[in-house]
Amino acid sequence: MRVYNCGHCGHLVFFDNVQCMHCGSALAFLPDQLTLGALTPAPEAGSGLWRRLGSETPGALYRPCYNQSTWGACNFAVPAASPHLLCVACRQTQRLPDLSDPSHRLRWARIEGAKRQLFYTLARLGLQPTDEHAPAGAGPAYAFLADLPGTPAIVTGHHGGTITLNVAEADDDERARLRVALHEPYRTLIGHLRHESGHFYWDRLVQGGGRLDAFRAVFGDERMDYAAALQAHYARQPAPDWHPQHVSAYAAAHPWEDWAETWAHYLHMVDLLETAAAYATSLSVPEPGTPPPLREHVADPFATPAPGFDTMVRQWVPLTLLLNSLNRSLGQQDAYPFALSPGALRKLRFVHDTVVEQRAN
Ligand SMILES: [Zn+2]
Ligand SMILES: [Zn+2]
Ligand SMILES: [Zn+2]
Repeated sequence: MRVYNCGHCGHLVFFDNVQCMHCGSALAFLPDQLTLGALTPAPEAGSGLWRRLGSETPGALYRPCYNQSTWGACNFAVPAASPHLLCVACRQTQRLPDLSDPSHRLRWARIEGAKRQLFYTLARLGLQPTDEHAPAGAGPAYAFLADLPGTPAIVTGHHGGTITLNVAEADDDERARLRVALHEPYRTLIGHLRHESGHFYWDRLVQGGGRLDAFRAVFGDERMDYAAALQAHYARQPAPDWHPQHVSAYAAAHPWEDWAETWAHYLHMVDLLETAAAYATSLSVPEPGTPPPLREHVADPFATPAPGFDTMVRQWVPLTLLLNSLNRSLGQQDAYPFALSPGALRKLRFVHDTVVEQRAN
């Protein structure tokens, strides 16, 4: 995630911060401005209202999201004129686990944090409206549920516009267990949500956007039996020969999963490139036997004009090598355990073009 400067003192602050560590100002993410703002209490303007400090919209009034004032579980603000108690991101969550159980509360709060990160990226890509009057269904709805004795297990997935996630995925040990059991090199909360959002946007941008033929030409025919395809995938774990055409082994299971995995990967790219650009990262990749290439700054994927897909990929490869090398120097596993084949890049380009086209509409 990109970094921000405190609207009061200018110190570096982060997307999920609620307070500036330097000057103590309250911080909240302002979804209507898509930025992190510093706020000061404004009781003269109304009970529970806060006024934005500094810069672009000085004096704008907000309330903390109900999930912040009640559970300490959100750092998005609600514009004072909004009729809602919950912020625009929290309102998307339609089903919650029983929050009287502290362990559920902790898991749910972690998942909401990952969801806000996804909300931000989708909003920056023009896929997620941010205004207070956007119709329900303009973005994904969410159900975050816990397994209960005597009821069917909660299965993570997307159905009819709602993304369901089992809150056990918020436990590091449970997620690590599944990562090993399912032969997945990468399993994170944000990864889950990005993947499931891919199914949501497939319905809207591919099926609903008149792109089915183009999709089938790149990903194959999604009308093949889905249940049988998934069964076959889990029977042959780990899938052989997936790499030349897919971003992951799971992507080889079915064209729908291929799209969702590729979509998630595209969101990884956009987020990491934005973060690197926010730190003014410049890159060059030494190649044996050639003169040192020119250094170039990582381009912000949300800049105007936006960098093209070829630029994103040219910068992505050395950036992820740097990322993994930094991790290894600290004895950690690769943060990015992937290598993109030409077939996978072709699919990523299709996702990129689909997103760019809908932004232009
Ligand atoms: Zn500050
Ligand atoms: Zn909220
Ligand atoms: Zn899926």
